[in-house]
Amino acid sequence: MSSKNPAAAGGMRPFDKVLVANRGEIAVRVIQGLRELGLGTVAVHSDADGVALHALIADEAVAIGPAPSSESYLVGSRIIDAALATGAGAIHPGYGFLSENAAFARQVEAAGLVFIGPTAESMEVMGDKLSSRRKMLQSGVPVVPGTESAVRDPQVAIDIAGRIGYPVLLKASAGGGGKGMRVVRAAADMAAALRQTMGEAGKSFGNDAIFVEKYIEDPKHVEVQVLGDGRGEVIHLFERECSVQRRHQKLIEESPSPSLTPALRARICDAAVQTARAVDYRGAGTVEFILAPGGEFYFLEMNTRLQVEHPVTELVTGIDLVHAQVRIARGEGIGLRQQEVGQRGWALEFRVCAEDPARNFAPSIGRIDALTVPLGPGVRLDTGVYEGFEVPIHYDPLLAKLIVWGEDRPRAIARARRVLGEFVLHGPTHNLPFHQWALAQPAFADGSYTTHFLEEAFRADDWLPDLADGDRQALVAAAVLHESGRRVTPAGQGPAAACGDNWRRAARRAMTGGR
Ligand code: ADP
Repeated sequence: MSSKNPAAAGGMRPFDKVLVANRGEIAVRVIQGLRELGLGTVAVHSDADGVALHALIADEAVAIGPAPSSESYLVGSRIIDAALATGAGAIHPGYGFLSENAAFARQVEAAGLVFIGPTAESMEVMGDKLSSRRKMLQSGVPVVPGTESAVRDPQVAIDIAGRIGYPVLLKASAGGGGKGMRVVRAAADMAAALRQTMGEAGKSFGNDAIFVEKYIEDPKHVEVQVLGDGRGEVIHLFERECSVQRRHQKLIEESPSPSLTPALRARICDAAVQTARAVDYRGAGTVEFILAPGGEFYFLEMNTRLQVEHPVTELVTGIDLVHAQVRIARGEGIGLRQQEVGQRGWALEFRVCAEDPARNFAPSIGRIDALTVPLGPGVRLDTGVYEGFEVPIHYDPLLAKLIVWGEDRPRAIARARRVLGEFVLHGPTHNLPFHQWALAQPAFADGSYTTHFLEEAFRADDWLPDLADGDRQALVAAAVLHESGRRVTPAGQGPAAACGDNWRRAARRAMTGGR
């Protein structure tokens, strides 16, 4: 990419209306950010999402096809047609769907529209784990010890594993979303593991290239938010820790990371800036690292888009990342210098998902019967749903994100416990009790948790949040009052009634020992 090409550096074409090529909470959050900038907004939606929140709140909404994303949210040509038909001058892709699809970014620009994101070239380099590893090796950024090219022959994999030491991780170069990885602990298991991982990768990603890297025991996932102007200027917005994961997918994120000393923070943030500079990065991106118990860190991958967990960074830095993305896409530059970016206080994000922790986090669907979030100072809810909305089966189970801020980590945790305790969500089975459980765990409280937190501490048959004895008695009393026809909350509709209902359910669980 030529750094002198102004179009490549940020699309100097002016725009006053933006199409948001996504759904759910991220489409809502982006539409809100665009509206704050005085821009017109266009939503696209599938037939299943005609009354989804993002489609209702945008200035205009365009139907782009049937419910399956392969026939709607993933059909680039329909999205571009919708932008042209409504006079939108730019497309914001959100995360997931087409956000990291270099061919889509090229089509958007070929249609004379601005793609609010990086260049197709940097997406291509970073979109593939092997090519990004190679790029990082050239740039001097530490990568996990392992291979630089795809491995097909089990004997070659065994030789490599012998050199770097077991356990090793077989990883699909085109993998994502925590899929396409397999740990191998002994040479005898290599051939079968390689065959299975290649088969799965071929099926899931249309690319069966597998590489071998050292499996880091008890690691933490630490990532760094960056902003680049596409002309060589890159700054970082510090780190997030995302080690609470299920199936390698994040559930709780925080910023700052409780695991970094100031010196380590400086080194990891520098490495992220170096990573982004290596591809003349344009826009908002995230450089992910794995942090070993000894403090060594290694590049995992770069996500070339807005990240689900971006709000924790926004709360501790005070910088609106969607506004920054638009500024950069307009060719106005980052608009901030590194020394103007600081971390203040502590933020935690909880992904509120329609899924059942007791059934291995299996997705759940249904109508949102009640949704009441006790907001207050330092509390943010990014949501894609509302009371009465029927959660469709076709998409990601993420309903909303609860983000809390406190002056320090203990105060952020205390606030989170308060809000989670008061949060009312009825309808699909959800993971709010899981979050309460997580906050009560010693390994979370002292910040020592690793990516194995869930496997080590969580038992599916014993996962309900610990209730203090006093709470348990209060819940039983509330239940008795409810069952005898009296109200523990003032009669009527709305939050109070819903809250009483919540108590009744919780009390039943308390009285019946959990089920
Ligand atoms: P994806 O693109 O699927 O998200 P990543 O490479 O970002 O894949 O890894 C996702 C998660 O898998 C990490 O956060 C970490 O928990 C685990 N992981 C990845 N690589 C390693 C490794 N070499 N050793 C141990 N755990 C790893």
